[in-house]
Amino acid sequence: MRAIRRFTVRTVLPEALAPLDALAQNLRWSWHTPTRDLFASLDPQLWEAVHGDPVALLGSLAPRRLEQLALDRSLVAQVHELDADLQRYLTEPRWYQTSCTAPDKPAAIAYFSAEYGITAVLPQYSGGLGILAGDHLKSASDLGVPIVGVGLLYGAGYFKQSLTRDGWQHETYPLLDPDNLPLTLLREADGTAARVQLPLPGGRRLYAQVWLAQVGRVPLLLLDSNVSDNDDAARRVTDRLYGGSPDHRLQQELLLGMGGVKALRLYSRLTGAPRPEVYHCNEGHAGFLAVERIHELIEAEGLAFETALEAVKAGTVFTTHTPVPAGISRYSADLIAEYFGGGAELPGIPLEKVLALGAEDYEGGNPGVFNMAILGLRAAKRANGVAQLHGKVSREMFHQLWPGFDVSEVPITSITNGVHAPTWVDPSFVELAERHLTREQLESGEGWRLSPEEGGVSDAELWDMRHRLRGKLVKEARRRVRKSWLDRGASPAQLGWTDSVLDPDALTIGFARRVPTYKRLTLMLSDPERFTRLLTDPERPVQIVVAGKSHPDDEQGVGLIQRLVQFADQAGVRERIVFLPNYDIAMAQTLMPGCDVWLNNPLRPLEASGTSGMKCALNGALNLSILDGWWDEWYDGRNGWAIPTADGVEDPAARDQLEAAALYEILESTVVPRFYDRDDDGVPRHWMEMVRHTLATLGPKVQATRMVREYVERLYSPVAGYAHALDGPSDHRGADELARWKTRVRQAWPAVRVDHVEADGVADVVKVGDRISMTAYVSLGDLRPEDVEVQAVAGRPDEADNLRDLIVLPLEPAEALEGGRYAFRGERTLDQTGPFGYTVRIVPCHDGLAGYTELGLAAAAQH
Ligand SMILES: *Cc1c(COP(=O)(O)O)cnc(C)c1O
Repeated sequence: MRAIRRFTVRTVLPEALAPLDALAQNLRWSWHTPTRDLFASLDPQLWEAVHGDPVALLGSLAPRRLEQLALDRSLVAQVHELDADLQRYLTEPRWYQTSCTAPDKPAAIAYFSAEYGITAVLPQYSGGLGILAGDHLKSASDLGVPIVGVGLLYGAGYFKQSLTRDGWQHETYPLLDPDNLPLTLLREADGTAARVQLPLPGGRRLYAQVWLAQVGRVPLLLLDSNVSDNDDAARRVTDRLYGGSPDHRLQQELLLGMGGVKALRLYSRLTGAPRPEVYHCNEGHAGFLAVERIHELIEAEGLAFETALEAVKAGTVFTTHTPVPAGISRYSADLIAEYFGGGAELPGIPLEKVLALGAEDYEGGNPGVFNMAILGLRAAKRANGVAQLHGKVSREMFHQLWPGFDVSEVPITSITNGVHAPTWVDPSFVELAERHLTREQLESGEGWRLSPEEGGVSDAELWDMRHRLRGKLVKEARRRVRKSWLDRGASPAQLGWTDSVLDPDALTIGFARRVPTYKRLTLMLSDPERFTRLLTDPERPVQIVVAGKSHPDDEQGVGLIQRLVQFADQAGVRERIVFLPNYDIAMAQTLMPGCDVWLNNPLRPLEASGTSGMKCALNGALNLSILDGWWDEWYDGRNGWAIPTADGVEDPAARDQLEAAALYEILESTVVPRFYDRDDDGVPRHWMEMVRHTLATLGPKVQATRMVREYVERLYSPVAGYAHALDGPSDHRGADELARWKTRVRQAWPAVRVDHVEADGVADVVKVGDRISMTAYVSLGDLRPEDVEVQAVAGRPDEADNLRDLIVLPLEPAEALEGGRYAFRGERTLDQTGPFGYTVRIVPCHDGLAGYTELGLAAAAQH
């Protein structure tokens, strides 16, 4: 294979159609319906055959056909119009330029992610994390936020799934040919491929070339180690997504993080693009970006490690995506030592400093392990989870890193995920909405409350649209079921029944996601008889479309798929429940709009956010879900249904039984009757009320533009502010000063203590309106009063004597006493009733800190 020299013959477009190339190369077509319609119109049959891939379409059109098309005046005019529209989209000022009022707006933001789900044409994702990253880039593009994405180009992407005869998942890894993808290679001025390189142990080197995918306005740099200078092992580093041994995955993460920073520098050098001021590490995989940036600063500017760390940290944001500890990348410290110790040590970065960044050096941690999430947290100034509940769970999960503080103070906030509406709303639904409603009415969601007399969409029209979307899904599901059975070895003669699989009029439930155990794919099978009765009800049938890939190494997951497939294979139910192999973006785009109900039953609280239900909501489907992830936050009693959870039931089997019973109960008593409750025109009025309410209230909230705006305002802009303050005029004086101050504070801390506290006005019972005044006598050792904040921390004591609903009241320095001792004072009027407790603590205080928790140091009064 390797001996063969491959090359690609590119189509040369006739002059009149030349802009088609730019339209195909910019991935904006993936969310811009008019551009896709244009490509489809060139050859509708071929468009189907290439699965809606513009690059493949142009590559397959015969030169003669192209010449004919070039004579079509109206087509040529359309091509030029859409080209002009794209140019406008790429250059005109958008939200970030015109309306974003955040201070310290960064000129560029680098976004690192191990996977990207942008279009089915570029299969570089395994699930929600990648889709979210894709939606983040697209929405940033729509808003004009100057992001540049960084990732890896996997030679085979994630696997393709099919089924064996007995329902076992079968994986294949078809190789992608980057030359036939919407990618361009970064080249040096002399035309050679631009490359980055990383040292590997034993004097080896890892080279990577860099592909550019243009996602609207956002460039996405993808590193690819499949180059001829690499030895075979190095060539295979980017062979597939999440494959291989720990060593292989570590090399992928080194290339992503460290190689990614180098790729950004390369990109700036070759194109003049501004250097990023903010670095967003999307999940821990890319954590090594911090090590490379520290390395850069030490090498180029001779900074001390601690100074470089402060400078890097100031501009970094970390997002954690998993509440499942097993979902976090962890390596043995010995393996890390191979890459950062001995002869491989980076100048100025001794091995133990690298190890310390990812060390689980807290109670309950594993000292032999290097933890990528901890690296992410330690190297970032701000961190977040991806839904409110996930923020809370993350604060609990990482509390050990901030042991002196209450869980509620752990500095991990949350920004709830969103989805990119132009990607996920069916074009015919968009067309209906835009025919009736103005942009403002759609943006506020209020348009969906308007009656037809007020210009709104009527129930009948909306219901008709739901019916059409369901019909499209049924047609597509039949095609896929048939194909799956052929792949499983059935003969066409045996497959007549697949033409009548599913019913375009029946209540359709969707369930599609990756298949880790906690998502409980087979919960619906808990009581097979009761479930079968639901499916086969002659009057009011329920039908279910299921899809999902399991990680190939997850035997349990693969087993769950088999159980579901074997259930769905049974003659009695196979028309009502189908498993569609090879879940991907293309399938999702038909499946989600076509469902009436989207089912999600994870084991709470293990679903960080989930986004598939949001995509459904935007198409007018209703969610039926465990109160986990985003649904915990936005379920309001009228936009769908909450499956009650048996929180606290310890036995997992018992818990599954209880939650499954609750699921059946809601279906039988509420969902099914409501769907089939029709008026004289055949419209389910009550159902449509819920659909409208969903569109009106969830519509604006679940969008990724809302999410990206929050990232800009709450994370990128503040972090850029820290970076500017510390960087100063690029001499890093601020970072140096902060690093020295932190070292001094850490050294002095053992001597810092609260000696005693005097409070006036505190009796066993005090009244609202009474004043309490407090004096704390503290020892600061070698620190000065301005290095610390002395805080009275008040709240409601719980049974374990922890304070809840904390109020933090800084006390003022009042008096210097002898021997490094000081008195601090404060007063407060009590404004709430009920039990009340307080304590006093000392925390470090400095303008350069993101907050008083940053160092994880607190000296509390001893009671
Ligand atoms: C939206 C989407 C996901 C993520 O769904 P979750 O709700 O997070 O499980 C995964 N895969 C595909 C193809 C998607 O479109």
